[in-house]
Amino acid sequence: MPTVISRSVWALGALCAALPDADVLGFRLGIPYGSVWGHRGFTHSIVFAAALAGLIVLLGFRQGAPGLTPGRLWLFLFLATVSHGLLDMLTHGGLGVALLAPFDNRRFFFPFRPIEVASFGASWLLTRRGAAVLASELRWVWVPSAVLAAVAMLVRRA
Ligand SMILES: [Zn+2]
Repeated sequence: MPTVISRSVWALGALCAALPDADVLGFRLGIPYGSVWGHRGFTHSIVFAAALAGLIVLLGFRQGAPGLTPGRLWLFLFLATVSHGLLDMLTHGGLGVALLAPFDNRRFFFPFRPIEVASFGASWLLTRRGAAVLASELRWVWVPSAVLAAVAMLVRRA
């Protein structure tokens, strides 16, 4: 029988995937976008993802979670967090992502960048541009993710 992963672990993964954009608070503190502490800086890096996942496992899940060893839980949380920066690298706006910070603070994009970049705030969502961004994310993120999840569920059942 397949292992059932708890809803709290899924919710934690979703939180980790969103957390890198907490760096937008830096704008209010006067931190420049291009700074390693600015938007798409350190919080979008591989090191941050590894450290965040490690911290969560150390502080709350040293024994792992139901169905997950501590190492597998760390891997899940790491992948959830690092996916944010990798997806941002597929957008064609703003600055790139400091994926290798703090060792290399340059900003990177993938050569293929099909995803419309989102604006800050929520009011723009109701505009024509907001609809284009949502359609782009649906096409390049949500539909492929749903297909991947469906395939994974079918494989687990087989
Ligand atoms: Zn981001």
